Amino acid sequence: MTSLGTETSDALQVLHRVFGYDSFRGGQQEIIEHVVGGGDALVLMPTGGGKSLCYQIPALVREGVGVVVSPLIALMQDQVDALRALGVRAGFLNSTQDFEQRRQVESDFLSGELDLLYLAPERLTVESTVRLLERGKISLFAIDEAHCVSQWGHDFRPDYLALSGLHERWPEVPRIALTATATEATHAEIATRLNLGDARHFVASFDRPNIQYRIVGKNEPKRQLLDLLRTEHAGDAGIVYCLSRNSVEKTAEFLTQNGITAVPYHAGLDTRTRATNQARFLREEGLVVVATIAFGMGIDKPDVRFVAHLDLPKSVEGYYQETGRAGRDGLPSTAWLAYGLQDVVQQRKMIDTSEGDAAHRRRLGTHLDAMLALCETVECRRVQLLNYFGQQGTPCGNCDTCLTPPESWDGTVPAQKLLSAVYRLQHERRQKFGAGQVIDILLGKTTPKVTQHSHDSLSVFGIGTELRDTEWRGVVRQLLAQGLLSVEGDYGTLVLTDASAEVLGRQREVRLRREPERVARAAKPRRAAEAVDMPAEAAPVFERLRAWRAATAKEQGVPPYVVFHDKTLRQIATEAPSTLAELGTISGVGENKLAKYGQPILDTLAG
Ligand code: ADP
Ligand code: ZN
Repeated sequence: MTSLGTETSDALQVLHRVFGYDSFRGGQQEIIEHVVGGGDALVLMPTGGGKSLCYQIPALVREGVGVVVSPLIALMQDQVDALRALGVRAGFLNSTQDFEQRRQVESDFLSGELDLLYLAPERLTVESTVRLLERGKISLFAIDEAHCVSQWGHDFRPDYLALSGLHERWPEVPRIALTATATEATHAEIATRLNLGDARHFVASFDRPNIQYRIVGKNEPKRQLLDLLRTEHAGDAGIVYCLSRNSVEKTAEFLTQNGITAVPYHAGLDTRTRATNQARFLREEGLVVVATIAFGMGIDKPDVRFVAHLDLPKSVEGYYQETGRAGRDGLPSTAWLAYGLQDVVQQRKMIDTSEGDAAHRRRLGTHLDAMLALCETVECRRVQLLNYFGQQGTPCGNCDTCLTPPESWDGTVPAQKLLSAVYRLQHERRQKFGAGQVIDILLGKTTPKVTQHSHDSLSVFGIGTELRDTEWRGVVRQLLAQGLLSVEGDYGTLVLTDASAEVLGRQREVRLRREPERVARAAKPRRAAEAVDMPAEAAPVFERLRAWRAATAKEQGVPPYVVFHDKTLRQIATEAPSTLAELGTISGVGENKLAKYGQPILDTLAG
């Protein structure tokens, strides 16, 4: 296909014919027109926003092969399979292939029999690959997961730095860089490092309206998680993030013992186990992966129904990336985080002992502060998230603070009591203790440890009986979050900050978030299966279609969503088309899938 000033109609045709979709979403059309016309683009769009079409369609419309640089070697096969299922001629070159496979792809590339070629970034540092590319015709370069070029991000890949040279070698080939990472700093760094100074920047809204954000107090995290999964996400696929390998293992075991199919994923597992667990997640329905943040980038499974955090993420950016893996299909999904005093203590300690200079530690501290502010806010979580990325929002009605607005209260007096207990220990006794001991003192508990240190003779002993233990822990946590108190050392001992003096000196009021008795469950989101209007009589048909899909996917060795998404199956079940022509009008049914699966679908419907 060539583009003779008819970019839009060509692009639209490809959208209908190949992908089976009616219309473009958000900024897609503008981006596609720009790239089809030969322009460079830098695209910031949230996960699930539809980035792939932004380079796939131009690659199909423009003459030559679209070269896609992606760091996700383990996912390339699936990406290519998904394109082939649509009838797109796609291939990849990476280290997992043997000589013969590689040779085949290279020859397809040279003879113009490929529409899209996926490459790992390190391939482009190999001279033979560059020579190969120079012998073929390239329609565009797409740089996926472009934030990997950012040295401060946790996904940094040194090989991405070499991509700045693409423009010199192929000055006439348009480049499109894409990422779901949204902060200004990363944005600017991508533009500089990839030499995209003249590129047009497209920044989409980072709102993910179908994700319900909830942040709850942590008391028995594994139990709380189990409760969430049983009551709201039975049979759903999801990801549970933990900080340490050990807690990943323990949590996966715990869920399995409680009848939930869960597998662990972390960098300490061998490559085979990791690959198997990832493949199971993509191919099975309703599997839970318990993982460290090593898991998830580029996972394009559309029906991840929940992302749960059992530990506090280190930054809002990380939190947004991780939670963003839920609900790419646009159906209702949950982002759930359990967070407590211990998280703050632990993260502060990690920052104090981290490698790197003072500036680096300060930056980590700033990231943590922003994350804590999100946890402690009494305002809409979504508005706060969007503000973090420099975007505006209005209270969303789909986060815990919107659904059950927390009260804020004047915590000045309790804050003064707590801070003066820390002060007395520090200055009268030259001692430092953790939150547990300070709270016992305030509550007037004569524990062995209190007696041993004769803390019952302190003037602050027993002055805080108006609050319960858990409420005091909430006070400590929030004072830490607000920088009115600090922790240090291996035992997380409490120490005063400069700002503490203002509270003790009555120059500063302290507003606190009320600790809910029991975390009231936010208006229960309907299970995704029930969430899309599907008349009752369509449900058994949907189940039959799912069974057909499972068998077909297994036979072809691809994940079920490569055959059809849930959304498409649901629409088929509802509309019950009786001819191929009718079936072809359903969103997600393109020409190739209609030819391949049309008759079996009609048979399944009739059966
Ligand atoms: P991203 O890479 O930005 O996370 P994807 O490209 O995977 O997002 O797209 C997310 C989902 O939305 C996919 O299931 C994709 O097929 C679907 N999608 C993208 N664009 C459209 C569109 N114009 N109409 C309907 N569905 C779309
Ligand atoms: Zn809200």
